[in-house]
Amino acid sequence: MARIKIDYAKCTGCRHCEAACSLSHIEGIVNPKRSRIRVFSKGDAFYPVIAGPFTDAKCTSKVTVTVEGREFDECMLCRASCPIKPVFKEPDSGIPLKCDQCGEPADPQCVKWCASGALTLIEE
Ligand code: SF4
Ligand code: SF4
Repeated sequence: MARIKIDYAKCTGCRHCEAACSLSHIEGIVNPKRSRIRVFSKGDAFYPVIAGPFTDAKCTSKVTVTVEGREFDECMLCRASCPIKPVFKEPDSGIPLKCDQCGEPADPQCVKWCASGALTLIEE
């Protein structure tokens, strides 16, 4: 099964992945708010997150995670859209967005546009 592997250390914050995702799903429109991948930042580091499940309820198991010595509120790296992280929703309709790997077989445009190699398609 294919999945997109994220190497946070290689992300430059260029946000080309957000542009590619929105363009590949809505012809002629570059709008990060319609993208199924969003790039968050903390200090001088960037953290791409790919849209996963939608939930009406906020979770009750929030923890702090450590990535390469940096501590994060887990919300930043969580893939879900929920009441306290209202990303990955169509801005007009509110319809949840979820990564579809750009088709079947997977042809992820975000991976193609990521020049730094932070995103790679792998088979598991
Ligand atoms: S295209 Fe790659 S390097 Fe640029 S923000 Fe997205 S994941 Fe990071
Ligand atoms: S694989 Fe396709 S749908 Fe998923 S985040 Fe990348 S560009 Fe968007």
